[in-house]
Amino acid sequence: MDAIDYAKSHKPAGSPVQEVNDPFLEDSGIRLLMKRDDLIHQHISGNKWRKLRHNIAEAVQQNHHTILTFGGAYSNHIAATAFACKKAGLESIGIIRGEDDLTNPTLNFARENGMQLDFVSREKYRKMTSAETRCFASQSTIDQETQDIASLPERFGRVFLIPEGGANGSGVRGCAEILPEIEENFDVVCCAAGTGTTLAGLSLTLKENQQLLGFPALKGGGFLKEDVERLMVESGLRQPPTVNHQLITDYHFGGYAKLKSELLEFINDFTDRTGIPLDPIYTGKMMFGIYDLIQKSFFAEGTTILAIHTGGLQGWQGMKHRRLFQLTFSC
Ligand SMILES: *Cc1c(COP(=O)(O)O)cnc(C)c1O
Repeated sequence: MDAIDYAKSHKPAGSPVQEVNDPFLEDSGIRLLMKRDDLIHQHISGNKWRKLRHNIAEAVQQNHHTILTFGGAYSNHIAATAFACKKAGLESIGIIRGEDDLTNPTLNFARENGMQLDFVSREKYRKMTSAETRCFASQSTIDQETQDIASLPERFGRVFLIPEGGANGSGVRGCAEILPEIEENFDVVCCAAGTGTTLAGLSLTLKENQQLLGFPALKGGGFLKEDVERLMVESGLRQPPTVNHQLITDYHFGGYAKLKSELLEFINDFTDRTGIPLDPIYTGKMMFGIYDLIQKSFFAEGTTILAIHTGGLQGWQGMKHRRLFQLTFSC
């Protein structure tokens, strides 16, 4: 099915597009718009809502009572899944990388919203999540590595599995609903990337004369290229004739848990000037990258950029908890 037809037939809830009125951009010849998916829901934030929506609907349709998913101890996806499941009347189980920490605000939020947490070592987590990806991708037979996954139903009963970060075909289909909602014209779409699921959904719905830039939040984000391609196929939606996205891998700032003062300063200044909050892991880095590229004349004059605000503001709590800096930003 054509991705745009699919999206239009699915009546997504929608989020506003906002002009970013920033004095900094006045003489740049660039127009900056922002798709405010962060405003969709306070707890099922931004692209997590997009990615969970069809997964949860499918679970309900298939008469599942429990959703099981994976995430790090500060994961936006874990927080969002816990809340979304509670709202949908489903039980939820989170397989968490690392050890329990009763002072961790994300884990506590998940628990308060009914999520049962199961902690596994980093190594076991890595095995489980990579096996789970392969199971989804190729329906491969169960080998040594996939056994931890295969044993999940034994331990937890019948569960509906959602991969780490909501990275599956249903997640992509939810993200394919973002661009068709927009009436404004734009030339370049920018989006932060973790698993690349959002990027895959955007890529499927981009018009021929538009460009898509993905900003990986992790170091060495080039590996996402293959993941995005796989996810696009998994969605079952029609592929664009050419690869129309590009990864900009220079703005990871060291990875998830790092917050460099240069980035923090940029985020605070941006919010002061525009009134728009950003998160420290994804959208902050993407916006830093966009502004840096504007300064370096990467975009032609007259370009209209659409930045996707994928949400993630709960990530500030994790940053605060890690005590990497004194919180000077409130949200
Ligand atoms: C999870 C998250 C992302 C990453 O999305 P992917 O679809 O996994 O690439 C981007 N931005 C925010 C704010 C997020 O919370």
